Parts: sequence; structure tokens; C-alpha cells
Amino acid sequence: MQTPAARFGTRDAHWRTWQWQLRHALTTAEELERIVPLTAAERRGLALAAERGLRVAVTPYYAALADPAHPSCPVRRQAIPTDAEFEPAPGDLRDPLGEDGRRPARAIVHRYPDRALLLATDRCAVYCRHCTRRRVTLTGDGALSREDLARAIEYLRAAPAIRDVIVSGGDPLVLDDDRLDELLAALRTVPHVKVLRLATRAPVVLPMRIDARLAARLRRHAPLFVVTHFNHPKECTDEARAACEALVDAGVPVENQTVLLRGVNSSARLLRDLFETLLEWRVRPYYLHQGDLAEGTGHFRTPVEAGVGILEELRGTTSGLAIPHLAVDLPGGGGKVTLQPEYRLPTPAGGGAWFRNRRGERYLYPDPPGRDCTCPYEQVYYGTSGAAGGRGGKGAT
Ligand SMILES: *Cc1c(COP(=O)(O)O)cnc(C)c1O
Ligand code: SF4
Repeated sequence: MQTPAARFGTRDAHWRTWQWQLRHALTTAEELERIVPLTAAERRGLALAAERGLRVAVTPYYAALADPAHPSCPVRRQAIPTDAEFEPAPGDLRDPLGEDGRRPARAIVHRYPDRALLLATDRCAVYCRHCTRRRVTLTGDGALSREDLARAIEYLRAAPAIRDVIVSGGDPLVLDDDRLDELLAALRTVPHVKVLRLATRAPVVLPMRIDARLAARLRRHAPLFVVTHFNHPKECTDEARAACEALVDAGVPVENQTVLLRGVNSSARLLRDLFETLLEWRVRPYYLHQGDLAEGTGHFRTPVEAGVGILEELRGTTSGLAIPHLAVDLPGGGGKVTLQPEYRLPTPAGGGAWFRNRRGERYLYPDPPGRDCTCPYEQVYYGTSGAAGGRGGKGAT
């Protein structure tokens, strides 16, 4: 069997460097055709993407995972456009989460009082066809300059309620180590920003980007969580595992967000397999996202009930740690809400709470003897009671 490097006419040493992978990303029908025989739909999709100026790029590493025999291959579906991407669907929005109205600085999206996104770049290693921010990543919103980033830091500095910053994009791990370090160090000069998250698909599409050295550099900015984006067990390779484990070993927790994609991973069996594998790697499944209404992604969207049904199948048949929150990011910018199967039954006359379990059996949780849930010591702890005290508390006294 040929090694993937040999299939691409290069040496293993090149294959294993992320810069080589980015430089040799496949971007045209001609280049992709050498790896997978393209279907007519993929060919039309690539032609339309070229015509409309939508970016296409697939790292050789990710392309090597594609199944040449099956157009339904999850790697192909996520990375190679088809003509379905150009068919309008009901509810399509250019800016599905209403982010552009919440950009106080070009590189900031600020929707929740305490959290903000920092868009570090408009570039990615692979341009996912289902990307929710495709108006930025696929169309090229324009690169973010150093001044944009400086202005973003200024905005954060002047907003003391922000405690959690998600460095996103684009994929911040296409930046080189020095640039990334500079950015994280700048964020760390803002004292009220306690938690950093780095949202990246590198473990999935460019795992050679992450090694012990990078992990140690990221660790210096702790608490920093890496949030990645695996969608299918086929993406769970030895290289991907090594990337995730390098981060966790260094003290950088890794969380995963999966996008529910119709006909790609819309199956409880596939997702259980994916989430269990990630958990073994110490990567915690965090969100399962209902598809956003981004233009060109209608063919990927599932009915809301499909996600709830999948969650119902997972609950009780795998570790709770392997089950993510099912989230719908409300169209137009309403924020995220989470869904779960309904286990509560209507309250009967006698009070208490009735539930059904996953087998449909009914159980009663009786009302407790007391109902007042005030915590009397809370006032003391925060130093807000009239009485002396609050020492060691967290209150502003
Ligand atoms: C999803 C999101 C967050 C983070 O939400 P969590 O539920 O804390 O993970 C923050 N800001 C924006 C704009 C988001 O879309
Ligand atoms: S890596 Fe993330 S930001 Fe980039 S195209 Fe994929 S989903 Fe979008």
C-alpha cells in the first residue's frame, strides 16, 4: 500500500509539516480529480464555486481520508462543494446568527454580556461547505489586520463584563506560532478576561499543526480551552488522536462541537461511535449543533426532531460524559438554546413530578417537605447582610 505522502508525490517529512499541507491544499477540480473521481454534482459545484469566488481548499491530509468510491463519504460531503450548495432553501440567511449587527469592532462579535468572539483570521485549512460563518470564510471578508486586532483588544479592555473570549475566525491555527502567541499575550493583558477558548479545526483537518511544542505554548496562556470540530468517526485518525492528546497532556483541555449534518452524521450509531472515541481521547463532546440557516447549507439541515431523537437514543446507552448539549443557535441572533427529549409528564393532582424513563416507564418524584430554597449563608458569604461578617467572602466590601 502506498503511503498517503507517496500518493501525493512527496516525502513523509514534508507530509508531516503543516506548512507543506497548507501550501499544497487542493483548490481546483483538476487537483481534486487526481485524488477522487469527481461526480457530475461535485464538478458542477466546483465550477459554480469558482465562478462565484467561493473558496475551496482541502489539505492533502484531509483529502487522503476521502473515499474515492462513494460520493456520500463524509469527508467529500464536508470539503467538496456540489451544486446543492447553490440551491436556495427556505429561511436561508447571509448572516444566520445576526452577527454583523453585533460587531463593535471588526474583529469582535459580542452577543452575550460576559463572552465575546474574536475573529482572528478569515482563513482556514479546509473550507467546510457547511460553515456557519461562510460569508466570512468562503467569500473572504478581507483579512484582519494588526490594527483590527489592536482595536479588538481595546474594545475588550473597555468592557469589564467580558470574562470569556473565544478566539475564532476562520481558524486561528493557520496563523504561525509567533502571531498566535502575540494575539494570546495581548488578550492576557486584559485582566478581566479570565478564560480563553481557541476554536480550531486543526485537529481534524491539519493535525500536524499541533505538537508538544505548540501545546506547551498554549498552556502558558491557561486557562485556555481548545474547542475543535469533529463530525464523523472517519475523521478519528491516529494523527488526530496524537494532536488532541498532545494538548490534553500539556494541560490544555479539549472540547468538541459537532454540526449535525443530514446524510453525513445524522445517525445515533455514528455519533455514539464518534463521541465515545473522542471521550477516550479525553476530548469532551460539548455541543451538537443544529445546522444554522447559512445560505448554501440547506441540503445539510435536519429537522429539529431528528437531533432530539438522536439524543434520546444516546441517553442511557452511553456515558453521560459522551453526550453533548444539543443546541439551536436561534436565527437572527437570539442566542443558543438547548434541547432535550421531554422526560417530564404532566403533574397529577397529588403534586410531585412525574417522569418517564427511556423505556417509557413512569416514576414519581414526590414534593419535598419544604419549598423555600433561599440560602441564608449566601448573604454572609457575599458580605451583603446587615450582620458583621463577609470576611473571606467574595463581596465588594
Ligand atoms: C456560541 C457563542 C458563544 C459561546 O457560547 P457558550 O454557550 O458559552 O459556549 C459566545 N458568543 C457567541 C457570539 C456565540 O455564538
Ligand atoms: S474550519 Fe471552522 S471557520 Fe473554517 S470553514 Fe470550517 S467551520 Fe468554518
